[in-house]
Amino acid sequence: STDITGRREITEEREQLLAAEREQVRRLRDLDRMKDELVALVSHEIRSPIAVIRSYAEMLLDDPGLDDEQRMFADVIDRRSTHLQHLVDDLLDLARLDTGTIGVDARPLSLNRLVRQAVDDHRAAAEAKRLAVTVRLERHLPVHGDPVRLRQVLDNLLSNAVKYTPEGGSVTVAAGCGATIDVDDGGECRSGAVTLTVADTGIGIPAEQYERLFDRFFRAANAVEAGIKGTGLGLPITKAIVEAHGGTITASPRDGGGTVFTVHLPTGAPQTGGDH
Ligand code: ADP
Repeated sequence: STDITGRREITEEREQLLAAEREQVRRLRDLDRMKDELVALVSHEIRSPIAVIRSYAEMLLDDPGLDDEQRMFADVIDRRSTHLQHLVDDLLDLARLDTGTIGVDARPLSLNRLVRQAVDDHRAAAEAKRLAVTVRLERHLPVHGDPVRLRQVLDNLLSNAVKYTPEGGSVTVAAGCGATIDVDDGGECRSGAVTLTVADTGIGIPAEQYERLFDRFFRAANAVEAGIKGTGLGLPITKAIVEAHGGTITASPRDGGGTVFTVHLPTGAPQTGGDH
């Protein structure tokens, strides 16, 4: 009957639509994969020439015969190429995030040492802005992690704290045993977790923008308005590294203004044992 024919037509039409939709999804996935491959390829190809430019700029800067103007030019080349290198490294990390291959070469290590080294490396930048930097560490905080990747986490949080805090403010880095820092058993940390916080008295994050903070390329409106430069790549990478360690990272407003980033890391080897 016409009724059955009509129904068949509707079914056929629906199937055609579904097939077209599936095709569309497949094409979008392909495009997405091609985008990732392109970013990875371009970043990789740009890395080596930048490294060459940097090393020649450094050689030039070592030349005592340079006049002031030449030195200034060499200095600009050095600083801008270093910036470019960091950008490309971040883009490569982001591409690795997409393919789930952010490398974590985990081993037992002391978080205390890692924190001290990182803070030392950011001290000059902090002093240039007359920021008070305080470090509060408990005796021994063992973690199971990748020292290079965890340094990246610390570097990102510290450079943000310095960058987003106006002159005369303060940055406090604290780490302790347990899920909250005040837990101190006086000796070895046996709680299975360590907590690291990086707090600043800076511009803070607008309340309604916290949920997007770890999205890639996201930059809060107040940071953009203040004219502070950035890419929005650091926090998504930081989060991925922390999670690859079996940890968590959150941000919250600091009492009295500013921001606190809290990282929890497991002290032992991750159960999954995956070096991904
Ligand atoms: P970038 O700093 O390069 O923009 P991030 O991914 O590190 O990228 O940070 C994303 C955004 O989060 C920043 O643009 C800024 O709006 C906000 N943000 C990060 N850290 C802080 C901080 N310590 N204080 C205030 N805002 C911050």
